[in-house]
Amino acid sequence: MTERVQVLVVGAGLGGLSASLFLAQAGVEVLTVERHAGTSIHPRAAGQNWRTMELFHWAGIDREVLAVSPRASQGLRITVATSLAGRVLHRLVEDGSEFDVSATTTLPAGMAGQDVVEPIMLAHAEKAGARVRFRTELVDLEQDADGVTATLRHRDTGERSVVRADYVVAADGGRSGVRQRLGIGTTGMDALSHCLGVVFDADLGDRVQPGVTDLFYLQHGDFTAGFVNTDVPNRYVFAPDYFPEKGETPADFDHDRLVAMIRAATDLPDLRPEIVWTGSWEVAARLADRFRSGRVFLVGDAAKVTPPTGGMGGNTAIGDGADIAWKLAAVLRGEAGDALLDTYEAERRPYARMVVDTSLHNMKQRMHPGLDVSGITKAEDPLGIALGFRYRSTAVLAEEPDDGERVEDVHAPTGRPGFRAPGLASTVDLLGHSWVLLCAGDGSRWEPAAASAGLRVDCHVVDDDVFASRYGLAKGGASLVRPDGVVAWRAKEPVEDPAGTLRQVLDAVLSR
Ligand SMILES: Cc1cc2nc3c(=O)[nH]c(=O)nc-3n(C[C@H](O)[C@H](O)[C@H](O)COP(=O)(O)OP(=O)(O)OC[C@H]3O[C@@H](n4cnc5c(N)ncnc54)[C@H](O)[C@@H]3O)c2cc1C
Repeated sequence: MTERVQVLVVGAGLGGLSASLFLAQAGVEVLTVERHAGTSIHPRAAGQNWRTMELFHWAGIDREVLAVSPRASQGLRITVATSLAGRVLHRLVEDGSEFDVSATTTLPAGMAGQDVVEPIMLAHAEKAGARVRFRTELVDLEQDADGVTATLRHRDTGERSVVRADYVVAADGGRSGVRQRLGIGTTGMDALSHCLGVVFDADLGDRVQPGVTDLFYLQHGDFTAGFVNTDVPNRYVFAPDYFPEKGETPADFDHDRLVAMIRAATDLPDLRPEIVWTGSWEVAARLADRFRSGRVFLVGDAAKVTPPTGGMGGNTAIGDGADIAWKLAAVLRGEAGDALLDTYEAERRPYARMVVDTSLHNMKQRMHPGLDVSGITKAEDPLGIALGFRYRSTAVLAEEPDDGERVEDVHAPTGRPGFRAPGLASTVDLLGHSWVLLCAGDGSRWEPAAASAGLRVDCHVVDDDVFASRYGLAKGGASLVRPDGVVAWRAKEPVEDPAGTLRQVLDAVLSR
């Protein structure tokens, strides 16, 4: 028998769980399949930037995430050094106080590992109605004009079943089988480096600052490696590079060799680290040529793989999932035309390009000075990437002139269409659940306009000068904010016909 579902999500990593969570909370029927037995057991992506925390706030999970990442509020230090007690080559981040984002968000960043964040996302996705099946993999997929037919296989029993979905979100990771099946190519660089991941327990005394996230990029005479503490007391991740071109494989790094490297990295020659997990991965920088093929959308690492320097892979996966979720929900509710779904690629692919290229520049600076970064786009400010990003698509009515930049200064947000609506104390809780019309000082003519818009548009009057200046509105003006908290359009001044204007704007940005 064929099972019917509105959206099938393939993969329950950060990208798939984000799509599942936001789709389910938007009232969409969603089935998620994951070939592993559960969520990630390794803390891989440790770090939720302010944008991710804003999305989590709207999903009602930010407090739980902060509760499992006690280091987050204490600070961040990033150091390039020869070893933990060796020569400091650069201090990239002193204590985190340089990250002043108070002009555009009231929410803190998080530092939780993927192993603890994914279970929270999963629990809330299921609470909102998402069905999630582990040990279940997608083995075939075909689409026609009306939907997608997917064949699933249970990995224990081998039993096959068929699901018919209106849309598929492929969040099946960097080697995405769905992407390959669709014939979507990727461009970029493979095998930039090869890393081992070693999780170990040891008492390092004062080598690492307690309480804060203390991240090191080590350029030791004998190796290059990442090194970071975790939320578990006395637990660390050591990630040295290895070199297949010199004939090395992960198997060459036996217990004694890893212990010797950890001793050298920490400058503690008598340390007895207890190794609890080891793994290996290839660092690559690749972008899918397309993010959409008909009814199938690539999300997270399936759409782009980025070097970990900058901690943006997981955050981008969560952002992708949230983006495709609100757009699919709008189309499935009949509020938007199919072309809204094209804006997923139009908005998220340039964003992914910016993330990948900036991570490559970071990699050159922190670990691999010889890396050739000619021919890629420039590095952007990490705060700008997180909170000052700009979308250009038909789901935004941009204002001219366009300065051509990809991010704006987060210390001076402008409220222009295409940029994130600043999450001020007066606005953050009004956003993120529906279309919102924020009116400066006077909403008397906007309220009836919102009520007659033909879809849910929440109308709020905000009467404070900080809001008016950060959103660029005169009294009687209004900003139309999308369900993802991005400004779609604004009337800086009062307009003649608010109802007619708002309807025209919504028709345009929803492609209907
Ligand atoms: C060591 C390391 C450190 C990192 N640090 C950071 C960081 O600090 N910050 C950050 O933001 N990012 C970081 N990242 C990157 C981050 O982990 C990834 O970008 C993120 O996990 C991508 O999520 P995803 O859901 O797209 O893919 P994945 O997490 O890879 O999930 C894909 C899932 O799909 C499943 N799957 C695949 N094929 C099928 C199929 N046919 N059927 C069913 N299921 C399938 C897989 O089992 C997998 O669970 C790091 C990565 C590594 C390796």
